[in-house]
Amino acid sequence: MAAPISHCSFCGRKSHQLKHLLHGGSGTVAICDECIKNAVTTLGTIVPSASENAAFSAPLKVPKPQEIKAFLDTYVIGQEAAKKFLSVAVYNHYKRIAQNAQPTEDVELEKSNILLVGDTGTGKTLLARTIARILHVPFTIVDATVLTEAGYVGEDVENILTSLLQAANYNVAAAQRGIVFIDEIDKITRKSDNPSITRDVSGEGVQQAMLKLLEGTIVRVPPQGGRKHPQQEMISVNTQNILFLAGGSFEGIEKIIARRMNTNFIGFNVPKQHYQIDRNNLLQYIAPADLRSFGLIPEIIGRFPIISYLERLSDDALMKILTQPKNAIIKQYIKLLAMDGIDLHIDEDVLHFIVEKTIEFKLGARGLRSICEALMMDAMYELPSQNNPTTLHIDMEYAHHKLDILAGDNLRAA
Ligand code: ADP
Repeated sequence: MAAPISHCSFCGRKSHQLKHLLHGGSGTVAICDECIKNAVTTLGTIVPSASENAAFSAPLKVPKPQEIKAFLDTYVIGQEAAKKFLSVAVYNHYKRIAQNAQPTEDVELEKSNILLVGDTGTGKTLLARTIARILHVPFTIVDATVLTEAGYVGEDVENILTSLLQAANYNVAAAQRGIVFIDEIDKITRKSDNPSITRDVSGEGVQQAMLKLLEGTIVRVPPQGGRKHPQQEMISVNTQNILFLAGGSFEGIEKIIARRMNTNFIGFNVPKQHYQIDRNNLLQYIAPADLRSFGLIPEIIGRFPIISYLERLSDDALMKILTQPKNAIIKQYIKLLAMDGIDLHIDEDVLHFIVEKTIEFKLGARGLRSICEALMMDAMYELPSQNNPTTLHIDMEYAHHKLDILAGDNLRAA
């Protein structure tokens, strides 16, 4: 057997120049103490500390669907259908992971990514975020509109996983069972009628690129994001157990649903009274065919076997959102002002007025916050500098004074 090598395989320095030289099993490779130190420093930026890891390393405790739903209820108002779908799908997904950990010859459980369709500001992201919170798994939100096909200006789809890895403190095992929420998936639909580009790099191309991530495969991910380049160290991430949720408002899809339903009824000559269609909430009838007509490719639709919808928020729901959830907006203002020793009181009719304005500006629940900011801004600017203010009472006169001058565009910009 040949004598072990007497230099570092990495930096090439000879053993007499070194404090330590660590040989590999066969003696044909070695690494010196300096190179080990360098490696640790480099990895230190991407390998988490033990305490960082601990949060995600605990065995996954998956609550039952009804427990998940009850937890969602404390943060998300209404949206009963979506909550039920999500609770069951998430429960099954993590049961599937448990089953895969002890493979049997038995039935194999397939992955169930979920697509949420609903107007902006109805709670899609909030639902996804709350689910991740109950499960204590890494969670990330990515905006589908910034993604492009590899080689074009924009982000590669692999960067979706970079952001999940970052959320998991680079704990790969934790990331591999995390949740990714892909927002605005409706914005990467086919744009075949767009005359300004010869190739559809932002639409169908991205959908194609996303397919492999969704179906469960090993993806080489650039740890710091950005473009892949040959010198960069990559981290392999298996996407098989990552749960993908996607959301989009799919503006105009109701017309597609209506058209399909009308055609079906006429086609099959079904007596109308057998089907009471709720025309105020057509989204509840959403089907894969509608998503296809909208411009999602069939392969992508196939990777989201569960489709659910979010209802438009009624004024009653908006009122509850304003005041009831654990971190309701009004509760937040009360707390903020209490920190300055100020007692905030908002009249009941002002709350209704805020809801009215939100509906008028068609901003979904997101508008509640913008309107409250507009209402409270001057007071929050002035009161902390006044001598011992103790109360802030907001009545209708004050609210009209602050809000009547607002136009929808101002709020959108807020
Ligand atoms: P989107 O459907 O566009 O993803 P989000 O989930 O981001 O909407 O909602 C925006 C904000 O509006 C949330 O942070 C939350 O404060 C509020 N919100 C929206 N829908 C609900 C809901 N159903 N229950 C409670 N809060 C909601």
